[in-house]
Amino acid sequence: MIYLDNAATTKTAPEVVETMLPYFTENYGNPSTIYSLGSGAKKAVNQARRTIAAAIGAKQEEIYFTAGGSESDNWALKCAAEAYETKGKHIITTKIEHHAILHTCEYLEKKGFEVTYLGVDKDGLVDLEELKAAIRPDTILISVMFANNEIGTIEPIAEIGAIAREHGILFHTDAVQAFGQIPINVDELNVDMLSASGHKLNGPKGVGFLYIRSGLKLRSLIHGGAQERNRRAGTENVPGIVGLEAATTRALRIMEEKTAKETELRNYLIERIEKEIPYCRLNGHRTKRLPGNVNFSFLFIEGESVLIMLDMKGICASSGSACTSGSLDPSHVLLAIGLKHEEAHGSLRMTLSEENTKEELDFVVDNLKEIVQKLRNMSPLYEDFIKKNQSRK
Ligand SMILES: *Cc1c(COP(=O)(O)O)cnc(C)c1O
Repeated sequence: MIYLDNAATTKTAPEVVETMLPYFTENYGNPSTIYSLGSGAKKAVNQARRTIAAAIGAKQEEIYFTAGGSESDNWALKCAAEAYETKGKHIITTKIEHHAILHTCEYLEKKGFEVTYLGVDKDGLVDLEELKAAIRPDTILISVMFANNEIGTIEPIAEIGAIAREHGILFHTDAVQAFGQIPINVDELNVDMLSASGHKLNGPKGVGFLYIRSGLKLRSLIHGGAQERNRRAGTENVPGIVGLEAATTRALRIMEEKTAKETELRNYLIERIEKEIPYCRLNGHRTKRLPGNVNFSFLFIEGESVLIMLDMKGICASSGSACTSGSLDPSHVLLAIGLKHEEAHGSLRMTLSEENTKEELDFVVDNLKEIVQKLRNMSPLYEDFIKKNQSRK
């Protein structure tokens, strides 16, 4: 099997699993108890908090563990909106956010908030002038993702943070695709809230964190016990939190090497596809791009069909986005960068890890070439296109 869907989820690293195991079998105590079994778990949770805080230049009391990226995004948006609604009810985000942000914004609109969805350019970059122009006296929150999960484009987060700070507006970033891949410092970037998720950096699923800058008065999203300093109820997911810490430590340790390797593989894959498969388009920014992200549209065919045929060769990839597969709607991200519906439908995302090899990518391209041609030979759109071209000659 060749796994090229690391933006959807990653393999839990063996060292992460190993770190987690004792917290199921031996140190299984509830961190809220007095006896030593529980206090061991509590120590582990607080150690994880310190490690993760250090990883983004935050203070340990600014890190809150959650059940993943979606919860962190929901918490940041819903509770910041509620906390600052006396100041205003206007929120700015982008058209290319993950559904955890977009659907939360739609919910907030139903609750009486007004949301501006910034467009992006053909590469998926937010326009800073458009952002400045969207700011109003009643704007309370800006939420822009760090890096896009579909097309890999990395947004100008430092510049956006500076603009938000200058206007006294809270700034949240969904860094689920960036944390563990790109160095992040919340002070340098002027970020007030940041979401991350374990399973996107070779950690476990169902655990993540929200960074909340100290001084922000966000209430709990999950009500119940007094865990996480009264701000996130529920018995701590101790194995998950310890796993998230181990994944973070690992990610920081290998970041430089991983980035170099993935960037080389990514560029090799892009180059071969552009050279050998006609009528394709690279989606996303060519250089301001996650090291492992490759996203192409192949004209005249359906990405879903490509996926099925790749699967028969043992290759896992994605079309549109993991969240939209299963539905017939084209990806909102690809539409936002200006693709026509049929171009968006013909998209294929391949997201690499440091474990992929050039040989694997050669196998992928060799098969992809055949698959694209086979599907085009069955495509009425392609037939029309060829006929038109011939009649022109
Ligand atoms: C995966 C992802 C999420 C959701 O994270 P979960 O931990 O799966 O809930 C949110 N935002 C982005 C950009 C993602 O890639």
